Amino acid sequence: MKVTIMGSGTMVPSNDRNSSGVLIEHDGIHSMLDFGYGTLRHLLKLGLTYHDIDRVYFTHNHPDHMCDLVPFLFASRYHADPRKKDLEIVAAPGFKEYFNTLMQAYKRWLIPSTYQVQIMEQDEETRTYDGLSVTSKKVKHIDMSRGYRFQTAEGKSLAVSGDTDYCEGMIELGKEADLMILECSSPDNMKLPGHLTPTECGKLAEEAGCRKLCLTHFYPVCDLEDVRATCHAVYTGELFLAEDLMEFNI
Ligand SMILES: [Zn+2]
Ligand SMILES: [Zn+2]
Repeated sequence: MKVTIMGSGTMVPSNDRNSSGVLIEHDGIHSMLDFGYGTLRHLLKLGLTYHDIDRVYFTHNHPDHMCDLVPFLFASRYHADPRKKDLEIVAAPGFKEYFNTLMQAYKRWLIPSTYQVQIMEQDEETRTYDGLSVTSKKVKHIDMSRGYRFQTAEGKSLAVSGDTDYCEGMIELGKEADLMILECSSPDNMKLPGHLTPTECGKLAEEAGCRKLCLTHFYPVCDLEDVRATCHAVYTGELFLAEDLMEFNI
C-alpha cells in the first residue's frame, strides 16, 4: 500500500499546504481519503486526473475535507473527454442526503451522465473494497465524523483520523497500525475543542501502539519544531510531520 499526503493543511489557505487529503494506492486502485481544496491539482503532479480516482472515502463534510469533489465532478463532465469509470464514495450515514443537496445546488452541472456515482454509507463496521479491509469508527469532531483503518490481506495497516479530539474510537483504529495519520491542529496551549494537540496526539499514538505516526492538519499557529518535541516527549515510535506529497510505503 502506497500512501501520499495530498494536503497537510486546514481551512486556512496556504501556499505550502493544501487542505486535507491522502492518496491510497493498493493493487492498482487509487483512492482519495478526503478531498480538500488544492488536492485535485496535486494529483496532476503524480500524473493522476479525474479519470484515475476509483474511490473516495470521506471522514466528514467540512469544506477543507471535501471541496475538490465539486471541481472533480465538474471536470468529469468535460464533453471532449468525459469520465467513463463509475466512482464510489464511502462516508458515514447522512452523506447521501448531503450529496444530493449539493447536486441540487449546482442544478445539473455536476450530475454525471457518462458514469455513475455510488455512495456507500458505512457506519461503525468493516467492509472490503477491492481486497482492502476498511473499518470505520466514530471519532470526536462532528456527528458525521468517522476515522478509518485500512488493512491489506498481508496485515499491513493504515489508520487515518480526519478531524478529531482525543477519543477511544481513534485509539482502536490505530491499534498497532503500521502507520497512523493524526490531525494535530494547534499547540498544547491553544487547544481547539474537537481537535488534537501534539501532546494528545503523542498519548493517543502511544496508547494505540502504532509503529509510525504522521501528524498533519497544521494550522498556521503551529511551530513544527515545538510540535515534534512535544509529541515525542510522550510517543516513543517513529514520528513524521506531514508535508504535501510526502510518501509512505507500508
Ligand atoms: Zn479540517
Ligand atoms: Zn472538520
